[in-house]
Amino acid sequence: QIECLQRNQTASHLNLGHPCFATHGHGKTGRIHLAVAPGCNISCNYCVRKFDCANESRPGVTSKVQTPEEALETVRKVKGSEMGLKYRVVGIAGPGEPLANSATFATFRGVKREFPDMILCLSSNGLLLPEKIEELTEIGVSHITITINTLDEDVGAKIYSYVRWKGKTLIGPKGARVLLENQLSGLQMAAQAGMTVKINTVIIPGINDKLLYSLAQEIKKRGAHIHNIVPLIPQAKLSHIKAPSKEMIAGCRSSMSGILPQMQHCQQCRADAIGIL
Ligand code: SF4
Ligand code: SF4
Repeated sequence: QIECLQRNQTASHLNLGHPCFATHGHGKTGRIHLAVAPGCNISCNYCVRKFDCANESRPGVTSKVQTPEEALETVRKVKGSEMGLKYRVVGIAGPGEPLANSATFATFRGVKREFPDMILCLSSNGLLLPEKIEELTEIGVSHITITINTLDEDVGAKIYSYVRWKGKTLIGPKGARVLLENQLSGLQMAAQAGMTVKINTVIIPGINDKLLYSLAQEIKKRGAHIHNIVPLIPQAKLSHIKAPSKEMIAGCRSSMSGILPQMQHCQQCRADAIGIL
């Protein structure tokens, strides 16, 4: 009965008109990404900083980082266009870490004031989530994506070069531990606050592809609603690793599908993407 209740709760979270929080796209709803967040507080070894944040996006330079006022103007233009009514989601996904940039909060507040019906969505590495969850809830952010690549601090040390935490730069397993502890408690707090939570996991062959089952079980236990397994785009310090094949990603999704619903249509969009999904 509890299983059944959990499934119903998950299903209701995945049916709120947000194109990225369903297992398949439906081509009916649009999302506006506002690229207002250039700074980041960690260093992922697959990140090239002049590109968009790999939390949500594929390489492709963001045309321009916008100020909160410029971003609001973008929303006004899109909403005033012929297709305006279809655009129901405003997301902030980079090009860096949204929670490490005050412009993220100013932008969300501006959008909420002028367009109270828009769904507010955020993509984060999770480091600052526990301390920002109250503010996000108060603003009305309802959908969040957290990129969690591993629960093992030694594996994390191979994925993250450093983590900036409380004025210090932490490297190796120590940095990874702080990051993954905050990711998990942030996930739990977001779910308890009633947000719909998606977890992205970047598959890095030979580094984090062995412990996926326990990761999926843990994120489910903490309240995640959907899992989005995405392939590594080999670049930066991980440019020597071969990208996982389509078959490998399909196999991972299929074996994890018994734990959480799997997103199948992620397009790894740019931080300034605007369009219907
Ligand atoms: Fe939200 Fe990510 Fe979808 Fe953008 S791509 S609308 S940030 S879930
Ligand atoms: Fe790059 Fe995003 Fe990782 Fe920051 S969190 S280092 S912007 S991929």
